[in-house]
Amino acid sequence: MTRTRRSARPRHHRIRTFAGAGVIAVIAAVVVPLGYRSMETPSGTAAPADSAAPVTPDTPDASAPAPRTSSPRREHGGPVGEADGVVPDGTTVFDDATPAVAELDAELLEALREAAADAAAHGVEFQVNSGWRAAAYQEQLLREAVGEHGSVAEAARWVATPETSPHVSGDAVDIGGSDAQTWLFEHGAAYGLCPVYRNEPWHYELRTEAVDGRCPPMYADPTHDPRMQS
Ligand SMILES: [Zn+2]
Repeated sequence: MTRTRRSARPRHHRIRTFAGAGVIAVIAAVVVPLGYRSMETPSGTAAPADSAAPVTPDTPDASAPAPRTSSPRREHGGPVGEADGVVPDGTTVFDDATPAVAELDAELLEALREAAADAAAHGVEFQVNSGWRAAAYQEQLLREAVGEHGSVAEAARWVATPETSPHVSGDAVDIGGSDAQTWLFEHGAAYGLCPVYRNEPWHYELRTEAVDGRCPPMYADPTHDPRMQS
């Protein structure tokens, strides 16, 4: 994920609508007698993800229950940082000291550096917006995406789980800016660098079979990727 995609989507409206629904749900839960409440959540049926978590840290609500303190599940405590794959501004594919770059699959990194060197000759610089990510960082991104998109199902269109994300395995990189994305879209296949998802033009992975030809067809979004079915 990158910052660039955020501006392209009308998420504020979605979040506001969603927060409103959350308030109604909370009021209903308080006002409606217990007997009726049980009808709202039929036994044996999991509540829809988007109605189960009406309160996120981003939308504090005085009428809602106090936020649980256990939400960040960091194994070794503290916020995620560069060692977990957070990318400092201005990072390039040549930054060996940055774990997000250094921990990428060696073949992917080699292909990226070859492509970046050739692109630079045409005045195009690859920025790394995301690369390798520790599981804890991926988990945090997923939590944030659920809060941002309002449901687990919608978040899955943008952020994978730590178990399925190719970023966690070091097999994916998110490249910016737009001129670099355009250059890669046109020339990446020659290096085995292929876009994978139509909704994420910044996300590239190595497809060695593409080196002599074309990249495989893209998925509309990660939910169509068989690797994400776990
Ligand atoms: Zn990505």
